[in-house]
Amino acid sequence: MSSARKPDWLKMRPPSGREFADIRETLRDHGLHTVCEEANCPNLGECWSGRSRSSGTGPDGTDDAGGTATFMLMGDRCSRGCNFCDVETGGMEPLDPDEPANVASAVAEIGLDYVVLTSVDRDDLPDQGAGHFAETIREIKKRHPGILVEVLIPDFQGEEELVQQIVDAEPDVIAHNVETVSRLQVPVRDRRAGYEQSLSVLEYVDRVSDIHTKTSIMLGHGEYDHEVYQTLADCRERGVDIVTLGQYLQPSHSHLDVKRYDHPDKYETWRRVAEDELGFLYCASGPMVRSSYKAGELFVDALLR
Ligand code: SF4
Ligand code: SF4
Repeated sequence: MSSARKPDWLKMRPPSGREFADIRETLRDHGLHTVCEEANCPNLGECWSGRSRSSGTGPDGTDDAGGTATFMLMGDRCSRGCNFCDVETGGMEPLDPDEPANVASAVAEIGLDYVVLTSVDRDDLPDQGAGHFAETIREIKKRHPGILVEVLIPDFQGEEELVQQIVDAEPDVIAHNVETVSRLQVPVRDRRAGYEQSLSVLEYVDRVSDIHTKTSIMLGHGEYDHEVYQTLADCRERGVDIVTLGQYLQPSHSHLDVKRYDHPDKYETWRRVAEDELGFLYCASGPMVRSSYKAGELFVDALLR
């Protein structure tokens, strides 16, 4: 079956402006790449120049806010193969021991107020990359005190001692994505992932720390409304603070078809349900929203509310 027809509200806005060019130059100097650029993310212009809506300033309260950017750690090949994801599977390379320091100096140089770190899954490594992830958080906090760090982590196969290594590095937000409703975990995600396993990771972080937790749900895989509601409720029950909802877009014809495009009004309804009825700290919801969408300014705005 072919994908549903793409509606007009999913048109991309190309990034522009001095901030965009400056950040890109610094990244090139450090030989680093962001998910924002690699994934050709439609929100790049908005995220990189982020300002807090309520204060008119960046997340650290100054006027020279550099917004939010997302760095991908531990290579560009994943040990898993999810059917919605464009990252290549297999052929894993050794870790770059300089990556934590390199990312930290780029973040400090750009003057980001809020950085999101994510990674491929590294089931091939003895600690699945938890130590490298934690070291990067520490390096960033050491070189750029006051910065807010959000990490979007793998499930670490549910091994709590590996999740604990991330908790011990004291990021400000720990995110892990359930991605879709319970019924659709297969075929959407790699078979090593799972709804309960992902919820248990989020629940563990909530249980052992005061760090804010976050998850994301894609819409468009054929889920019913009652299943989306149940997923939101399950996440909230496990102590998840922040949720994002966005439209799944098919990266290529070999990936899963898009079953449905929901109107922006529907996303607004989900935002109200999540925030007003279920009590999430905030919910970013819209067709173009991705896990790290304007993460810095939305997080600070929510804390100031
Ligand atoms: Fe993509 Fe993450 Fe799945 Fe790897 S685990 S294939 S990076 S979604
Ligand atoms: Fe980057 Fe995430 Fe914003 Fe996209 S949504 S531009 S990946 S920070």
